[in-house]
Amino acid sequence: MEPIGEKLQQWAASQPDKTALIDDHGQMTWSELVSHANRIANRLRASGLQGGDTVAGLSENTADYMAVYLGTLIAGGCMVPLSGMASGDALALMIEDCGARFLFVSHKNQPLLEEIRDRLPAIPAANLVGIDFAPSASNPTLDQWLGDIDDAAAPASVTLDDPFNIIYSSGTTGTPKGILHDYRFRQRQMVRMSRFGLDGDAINLVSTPLYSNTTLVSALPTLFNGGTLVLMAKFDAHRFLELAEQHRVTHAMLVPVQFSRILAEPDFDRFDLSSFKLKLCTSAPLRAEVIAETMQRWPGNVREVYGLTEGGISTSLDCGAYPDKWNTVGLPTEGAEVRVIDEQGNELPKGEIGEIVGRAISMMRGYVNREEQTREMLWTSPEGLAFYRSGDMGRIDEDGFIHILDRRKDMIISGGFNIYAVDLEKVLLSHPEVADAAVIGIPSTHWGETPLGLVVRKPAATVTEQGLLAWANERLGKTQRLAAVEFRDELPRSTIGKVLKRELREPYWRQ
Ligand code: ATP
Repeated sequence: MEPIGEKLQQWAASQPDKTALIDDHGQMTWSELVSHANRIANRLRASGLQGGDTVAGLSENTADYMAVYLGTLIAGGCMVPLSGMASGDALALMIEDCGARFLFVSHKNQPLLEEIRDRLPAIPAANLVGIDFAPSASNPTLDQWLGDIDDAAAPASVTLDDPFNIIYSSGTTGTPKGILHDYRFRQRQMVRMSRFGLDGDAINLVSTPLYSNTTLVSALPTLFNGGTLVLMAKFDAHRFLELAEQHRVTHAMLVPVQFSRILAEPDFDRFDLSSFKLKLCTSAPLRAEVIAETMQRWPGNVREVYGLTEGGISTSLDCGAYPDKWNTVGLPTEGAEVRVIDEQGNELPKGEIGEIVGRAISMMRGYVNREEQTREMLWTSPEGLAFYRSGDMGRIDEDGFIHILDRRKDMIISGGFNIYAVDLEKVLLSHPEVADAAVIGIPSTHWGETPLGLVVRKPAATVTEQGLLAWANERLGKTQRLAAVEFRDELPRSTIGKVLKRELREPYWRQ
């Protein structure tokens, strides 16, 4: 396989005037992008970066930030994109954990930087660079830091085992862990994603943040395959539609709430979206009703993908080809395998519910500085193959399609029965006046745990908590019934749109 740094140089040479990046500030051609990234790479090396050294970034999606990412790779460094939604404490811990000696930060994240500045002893003032501002007299802007360094192409030689990036888990299920991916992981992903059309002809609208693997899984292959990225610094459904029409977008990787928000835009049907070939969806279940509406109103196909940052994409569902399987996450992708195990680690036959374990063509190298947790994450099959433990409960149906029921930690055990929140959420969401819903387990002296529905109503809805409870329980099985329904103004979600159930559960279990 060709090294990624070399590949970027080739795109700059073979299609210099083609647009590589579009962001809120303007556009960069392939020759401009690679020249900028080469200068960043040369400057990193001149500042002492050695192969494998980590470079941290804290910025919204911009062309400059993407250039920092690519420059780090060209220099042989390992990029660590951090989330501006994390607390100062968590950020300081992550930067220490990954050992970064460089930090690139955007103006928007200045308050966070101020909070942690005294806790970054490993980052010298000259290596703390403001992407679009000067953090202080001693910390340079990107332009100042680059100075008069040239753009000579000198991609580092790397092997497939070398570190590529570290992605910190969002922490929806615990303390963030640094997930290390090597070049093999990304190279294989690039090949696989080109089969979904993320190739040189793709114009991919990126509306989720670049620190999430959900984003990188489609954004990086698009660039490495010579395509074009349209970067949104912040998702807004109306702006998404404007950009999609304006730039004749062909692809987008979205999370389920984004589909609902985009489709709910009052003037959705006025936009020309005929350039779309494929919408990819990941990170949480995409409801069949939403797939149906998308297929009907939004040109192009929909493909739902399932996987973990740790294990890459394991399954995918071609929604156009399998309309009767919209409640599943599809079939294992080429080279991947999925099995189901019980609590003792025994493999379960088809149809039985247990923990999903997966083996993809690309998996993480491990959690940074957490060998024991890395070992715990793996399950070894009787034939000696390593699978990652997903922490998701699910089953494989008679046709080999994978059904995801719940995260193991979110599953509700009530009176000895396992209740999967997804089933109850589907019922609540099918009520015409319900906009959003999450079901969590709360303590019950009688049952141990019992399900509670937290619901956001649509504007002008009149249904009451009692009315909705009765309506839902009529449609649920005896062992699934909700103990209560509570209305909320909104549900807490992570930056990539996952409901933060731990946060919702916390007050009930504290009492
Ligand atoms: P943390 O592990 O801290 O919660 P995270 O949510 O960011 O962080 P990811 O690796 O991005 O972790 O998410 C993987 C999980 O997302 C899967 O285990 C599964 O629960 C869920 N998921 C991903 N894709 C799908 C999908 N298509 N349908 C249902 N759930 C999905």
